[in-house]
Amino acid sequence: MVSLLAVNNVSFRYQPEMPLVIKGINLTINEGEWLAVVGHNGSGKSTLAKMLNGLLQPEEGSVVVDGLFTNHEKDLSLIRKKVGMVFQNPENQMVATTVKDDVAFGLENIAVPSEEMKDRIENSLKKVGMSGYENAEPHHLSGGQKQRVAIAGVLAMKPSIIVLDEATSMLDPEGKTHLREVMKQLQVNEGISVVSITHDLEEMRQADRVVVMKEGAMIAEGTSKDVLQQKDLLEQAGLMLPLPARVGDRLKKEKGWPLPKSVTNEEEL
Ligand code: ADP
Repeated sequence: MVSLLAVNNVSFRYQPEMPLVIKGINLTINEGEWLAVVGHNGSGKSTLAKMLNGLLQPEEGSVVVDGLFTNHEKDLSLIRKKVGMVFQNPENQMVATTVKDDVAFGLENIAVPSEEMKDRIENSLKKVGMSGYENAEPHHLSGGQKQRVAIAGVLAMKPSIIVLDEATSMLDPEGKTHLREVMKQLQVNEGISVVSITHDLEEMRQADRVVVMKEGAMIAEGTSKDVLQQKDLLEQAGLMLPLPARVGDRLKKEKGWPLPKSVTNEEEL
């Protein structure tokens, strides 16, 4: 396994007088793997994500991307090309009046020649299933389509890693499913590493590896299969199993099987 990104003993706080919100995290992200990061709100997931491409700098420790350090000013622009970020709210990520201009935005900043830009836009939109939408106005798109355009904008930069910070959380079930499929394809067909911060069990199931965060620390790491089997851990991470599994578990433990007809919802348990 080739490691692409290393988080080395990283700690972080937002203000000098405030407590640490990231506490001594060590983590590697390998080439072509899908890593899910889970944990309660406030456990430090977004802060950690922002450190992966140098949007935030560690107070202690280092973040190294392909041999480049995020706290070396001269390395930052290359790091930002290698590590693309997609955030929760698609509305906040649309910057242009057409889809193609939106995807072109990052490319214009790095002065990609126009022919190559055209190719990159076309290829990126194809990879996220948005070919044919080049001239569409972003505000006419669904939330899921907007997220896919945001991913296309990142893909156009030819990244090695895409970090998605709760990118599926505002989408309807269909949008979530489609976006997960896009993420899987990028991982499998393009060999891009995917880091997804999520509360979605299905997204976690698709990942190769899961990291569980609590109060700024990493409390567990394992294959998604292993982590999904540890219910205590899922509860600590604020992730609950789907209701039927919880009902079954509880009844086995407390009331015996099978499910009484009267038990129809969570409240009664
Ligand atoms: P998560 O993504 O797991 O919900 P965050 O990384 O957003 O967690 O937050 C971790 C901690 O840092 C929380 O206590 C949060 O209140 C605090 N925090 C987040 N952003 C800021 C900020 N810009 N300034 C000060 N504190 C912040």
